[in-house]
Amino acid sequence: MESSIERIKPQVRALRPYSLSPDRAGVKINQNENPWDAPARIKQETLRRLERREWSRYPDFIPTDLQARLAEFSGWQPEGIIAGNGSNELIQALLMVTVGPGCRVLIPEPTFALYRQIVAVLGGEVISVPLTSSLDYDLKALQATVSEMQPDVTIICSPNNPTGCAISDTSLRMLLGFTSSLVVVDEAYHEFAEHSVVPLLREHENLVVLRTFSKAMAMAALRVGYLLTAPELALEIRKAVLPYNLNAMSQAAGEVAVELYEAELRPLVRQIIAERGRLYAELNSIEGLAPVRSQGNFMVVRSSINPRKVFGELINRNILIRDVSSYPMLEDYFRVSVGTPEENDLLLTALREIFSGDSGKLTGV
Ligand code: PMP
Repeated sequence: MESSIERIKPQVRALRPYSLSPDRAGVKINQNENPWDAPARIKQETLRRLERREWSRYPDFIPTDLQARLAEFSGWQPEGIIAGNGSNELIQALLMVTVGPGCRVLIPEPTFALYRQIVAVLGGEVISVPLTSSLDYDLKALQATVSEMQPDVTIICSPNNPTGCAISDTSLRMLLGFTSSLVVVDEAYHEFAEHSVVPLLREHENLVVLRTFSKAMAMAALRVGYLLTAPELALEIRKAVLPYNLNAMSQAAGEVAVELYEAELRPLVRQIIAERGRLYAELNSIEGLAPVRSQGNFMVVRSSINPRKVFGELINRNILIRDVSSYPMLEDYFRVSVGTPEENDLLLTALREIFSGDSGKLTGV
């Protein structure tokens, strides 16, 4: 008899599970989160609104109030916005309505691993375009691949997780000009680049933009993300989104965060940007380390000591970073999120100790 496992699509069985070690640490800089918790005013106002609401009733079928608020916030029309349970859900919905066997999805790599994972589950084919040796977008290769292979979907993460490179509006316009198929820009980290491609939506109806509340908005626990695109396209993508996908608490918190963004969250983003500059300069001064400039709230760092060993040394000092050495092109790299000034100081002190050679246990790669 056939085993039940054989009922699973072969391309799914071939995948490694997408997972992250559940480690916790005093200094947690492994997931590009906002190092500060959501401000008290945002929490209190959210809880106040939630208290007044009946918990026995379903949330909105479609979170229209939040979508209207997001439209004002982003400068795009509400009919072209879909709010989701984290932007992960919207990446999945978008790929579900566009990708099947025989479809090709262009993904510059290394990047966020979930895109490849979902394309594989859906039976599509990934066309991978490597970044340049300086970990930037290879625009010539991207343009050539888009125009020659006409992928069904192209996904550009900008700023890119984990390398921090971004695509300029000029380059994006050029890519959009080479194809009428979908170009998705994942702007999960756009606040830290102080730039958005949302204005380009007016000119390009094949552009899809993804955003999240998990990073600058300090709300990863509540799972809110949104997608922006032409209303006709949004109508189709919505067909793959489950009703009631956003619970009432997340909806309320999203609305409050947008209302209080300038007063409460923007100052934190500014501090993170300033700390990113300081962290880069300090890391650069440590012999054996070469950080890569980033437009996100994180950066990858080339390390003369095996990144797995650095990870282990840091976790022993209660600091949790991300070992990205299994990503293509990044075998000598680890990634750190920009923490609070105190967290960054702790990281720098620990790395100076590890790289001074005093720890005795370490060997260079
Ligand atoms: N896109 C990118 C580029 C990310 O790095 C992440 C989270 N690491 C996500 C999307 C997912 O975000 P969310 O929490 O909104 O699902």
